[in-house]
Amino acid sequence: MKFGTKAIHAGVEPDPSTGAIMTPIFQTSTYVQASPGNHKGFEYSRTQNPTRSALQKSIAALEGGKHGLCYSSGLAAIDAVIKLLNQGDEVIVTNDLYGGTYRLFTKIYAKFGIKFHFVDMEDIANIESYITDKTKLLWLETPTNPMMNIIDIAGAASIAKKHSIRLAVDNTFATPYLQQPLELGADIVMHSVTKYLGGHSDVIMGALVVNDDQLAEDLAFIQKSSGAVPGPQDCFLVLRGIKTLHLRMQRHCENGRVIAEYLRSHPKVDKVYWPGFEDHPNHLIAKTQMKDFGGMISFTLKGNDKSEAFKVMENFHYFSLAESLGGVESMSNHPASMTHASVPFDERQKIGLVDSLIRLSVGIEDVEDLIGDLKMALG
Ligand SMILES: *Cc1c(COP(=O)(O)O)cnc(C)c1O
Repeated sequence: MKFGTKAIHAGVEPDPSTGAIMTPIFQTSTYVQASPGNHKGFEYSRTQNPTRSALQKSIAALEGGKHGLCYSSGLAAIDAVIKLLNQGDEVIVTNDLYGGTYRLFTKIYAKFGIKFHFVDMEDIANIESYITDKTKLLWLETPTNPMMNIIDIAGAASIAKKHSIRLAVDNTFATPYLQQPLELGADIVMHSVTKYLGGHSDVIMGALVVNDDQLAEDLAFIQKSSGAVPGPQDCFLVLRGIKTLHLRMQRHCENGRVIAEYLRSHPKVDKVYWPGFEDHPNHLIAKTQMKDFGGMISFTLKGNDKSEAFKVMENFHYFSLAESLGGVESMSNHPASMTHASVPFDERQKIGLVDSLIRLSVGIEDVEDLIGDLKMALG
């Protein structure tokens, strides 16, 4: 099955009791057993729910993986991965990553005795000097949030394999439409389903996809033991959203290209961060591991004035100022005071996340209207 066909059909079958073409919302906490232990594979909805099962199969198929697991948020999915570790274990992490992931690692898990090293992975050779016999996990995002750096997944996977370390990739920005980390050698793929997979800004959800049977079993054990599972209504909404993932992504990429080029030509704009530019430092890796370059773009203003950046964002009509991304509607965000406020100032400067940086999630509206909005807001 090719990608678009999978998006519509994978994991989904007509309901056996009625023939309903859409997977029903199994709004039930429990399942009646004929005699103790004699059930149809469903006991209690924290552990299994048919709507969730269909979605887990769908997301696994899109990532080209064997097992999918859904969680009540993207962070709950990341939390489940860190729960695979033991006290004293070490993790090597991209230094430019989602602020909530940084907060989870540094404010919650560091106090349980897990050590996190934040490393610039634009050159993956940097990873190796942080590896010790305690390193158990490599965690990366690509493209990174919000600097749109590209990390070589296959290269990181070969380092991980050499040292018997697991590699987890947060694939939220790219989606499986653009890149499939398992195929490139990753062990775990993570999604904030809230973003492109859901696609309509109406659900908070996370997912993991793995190939290894034992790893899947361990994660399912954590899923039912810790309990951060999504409800069936949300699973239904995401099953519905996924059916147009390939069409939405195609338009996000087309609009993203036009807008990146427009911004680059604008006299008030300083830098534009988008992996599709030929002079982006890791453009060649992006070209190799991604099908296209996505609809996430960050840019800074000449003079780097924060209040100027605020004014631009307040002027936007279509680029709604909001946390989140990946919806059909365009959004803007000020990472330094919103999504990445929990990253210390000095750390932000080191990665180029300056105070005039604006992040755009380019939606699937008509691009002429989006360009008009930028023209008006930048003045
Ligand atoms: C939003 C996001 C998360 C966290 O997901 P939630 O669904 O908000 O918990 C993790 N990683 C990336 C890259 C994100 O954009």
